[in-house]
Amino acid sequence: MERGRANRAATIQQTGLDLPAFRDRVRSIKETAAQDPSIADAFAEAVRANGGRVFFAATARDGVRYVLDICRANGAEFLVKSKSLTSEEIEMNQGLAAEGIRAIETDLGELLCQVAGEKPSHLVFPAIHMTSDRIARMLTQAYGEAIAPEPSSILSAVRARLRPQFLAATVGVTGANIGIAETGSIVVETNEGNGRLVTSVPRVHIALIGLEKIVRRWEDAADLVRGHAISATGQRMTVYVSLISQRQSVAGDPMGREFHVIILDNGRTRMRADPVFREALNCIRCGACMNVCPTYGVTGGHVFGHIYPGPIGIPWTANVHGLEDAGFAHLCVSCGLCHEICPVDIDIPWMIAKVKEQDVDAHGQPIAERFFMASEAFAKIASLTAPFANGFLSHPAVRVAMEKTLGVDRRRTLPSFAGRTLRQRLRLRTPGSGHLGRVAFFPDLYAEYNNPNLGLKAIEILERLGYSVRVPDVQWSGMPYVSYGRLEKASKLAARNLRVLGRLVEEGYAIVSTEPTAVYMLRKVYPKLVVGDLAEKVAARSHGLFEFIEPRLSALQATPAREIDGFVGFHIPCHDRALSSGIPAMHFLERAGYRVRPVETGTCCGIAGTFGMKEGWLGYELSMAVGEKLFEQFRASGCELIATESSVCSLQLRDGLSREILHPLDMIHFDSSRPSSS
Ligand code: SF4
Ligand code: SF4
Repeated sequence: MERGRANRAATIQQTGLDLPAFRDRVRSIKETAAQDPSIADAFAEAVRANGGRVFFAATARDGVRYVLDICRANGAEFLVKSKSLTSEEIEMNQGLAAEGIRAIETDLGELLCQVAGEKPSHLVFPAIHMTSDRIARMLTQAYGEAIAPEPSSILSAVRARLRPQFLAATVGVTGANIGIAETGSIVVETNEGNGRLVTSVPRVHIALIGLEKIVRRWEDAADLVRGHAISATGQRMTVYVSLISQRQSVAGDPMGREFHVIILDNGRTRMRADPVFREALNCIRCGACMNVCPTYGVTGGHVFGHIYPGPIGIPWTANVHGLEDAGFAHLCVSCGLCHEICPVDIDIPWMIAKVKEQDVDAHGQPIAERFFMASEAFAKIASLTAPFANGFLSHPAVRVAMEKTLGVDRRRTLPSFAGRTLRQRLRLRTPGSGHLGRVAFFPDLYAEYNNPNLGLKAIEILERLGYSVRVPDVQWSGMPYVSYGRLEKASKLAARNLRVLGRLVEEGYAIVSTEPTAVYMLRKVYPKLVVGDLAEKVAARSHGLFEFIEPRLSALQATPAREIDGFVGFHIPCHDRALSSGIPAMHFLERAGYRVRPVETGTCCGIAGTFGMKEGWLGYELSMAVGEKLFEQFRASGCELIATESSVCSLQLRDGLSREILHPLDMIHFDSSRPSSS
């Protein structure tokens, strides 16, 4: 997974690809392809004009039946197959096997999965879960000859087995990465060369293509070919890109050579009509979302997947195989990283939230999720009763009881509560006048109930810089409602907060928060929850504290609160990656005199809001397994202090490293002789 991410990033940098512009272009091609049914009709007409035959398969069963009929008509007892995840979708191999016809996989990864009797675990690297030792043992047993666990030995053995099959096959089945309507051509991209044998040697070639993969023009196909290679493997070009328009007769073949195209619907037309799930049709199957997904990276595609694995596998599975097979949606921790990396800008987390909503409607909500969705009410009570509540909540017997009754893992450190909330403490304060402008500080739960000092420091900085600050009458940002699929509640909360914030924005206020998740909600999620101008206006005026003050940092006279010789290891929270990548917070610390280095794995720390507070493997244990790589990196980094902006990442790092974790605001002193910059 790490190598996939690194190769992709390196190729983007080396080629100087303008990623945002390329993303827009690919998205527009895919949106047109997925939404315009006339493109598939034009493609079918062009294939027929080239001498091919076209079959529109409404369902998986129809697709399998067509392949079966062709095999029977040609007396084929087996077929060779390459490059077709779509054939996995319709479970073609199983359907043919039930009728006595063998489908022989010829892509190495799929072949290994077939020998092992397992499903692919990744869209692009189906056998990534197997080691070469295991592969050698498996093939030794299957082929009845000793095979060494070296890639070259494995490849020689497989090649020797497959070559006669290509030559003997009457029927070859492939998928198609792209169909091109203007010429009736298909594009087949492979890195192994077997695709060309499957499409050219057997007398009959059947290509299976989802109707969303058909584009209008060659130029569109060229952009997609680039997008596939760069995003899937970090290659500039896939090794074999075959463009097939027609099959020519060959000498000594009196029956002629057949070309069939199956255009598969299997739920796609329904998805096309769905305002949320239609986005899934834009997927180019590059697998990049898998390479960045923190929980997929630990569990793999057999747990985090059905036939389609990984993040995009969730909406696909729910739509083409049914909700019952999409239970792995609950492995998604709503970190948002898959959306950020997707070359088509698909909002996968939003579709997953919808799948979770359908799932909890159908199967109910676990108690721990209900508890965490009541976090604001809980925080109010705990704060009212602090410090008693803190002593009570940290007592081991209480934690055992909480684990058993509420599903809150006893091993997880919980934040303590302040006796006086931020708003209560602000009542005693005289607000600054502010000549630079007006700021509404959005405290979210942590700065309101757990650490009001953090909120006070943020407000002090803003006032020193020349802003007048108020804390509006808002509730928390409500991320757990989205993470746990309660979108109706999330929408109500968002609408209420937006009414308050919208008025302030109209009065000229900027919205600022110290909590990355709150800013992520305001900017990225509220506009989905409450569609319209109001949410867009608030999103455009919402900022993280450090991002907001970055242009005026030079006016801030701050010194380090800790004298250190070494450097600060900085953790970038997932929700900040989509906003500012932690850069302004690091600049803030550097400005105060610290040396700062990001310490990171490129993915999540694992806690993911309240996910890592839940009891058991679908909570604390998975969260710590995800975090382990990051903990190792911090241990190896030699950093003297550790800082992060997120209140929950801070809990995870503290539990994983048993070290003090600081917020950047806790690491500075102001020159008290100096008033605000005014
Ligand atoms: S959802 Fe995006 S990142 Fe994931 S496979 Fe599809 S195109 Fe690639
Ligand atoms: S939001 Fe995060 S956890 Fe969820 S599927 Fe995407 S990458 Fe994985």
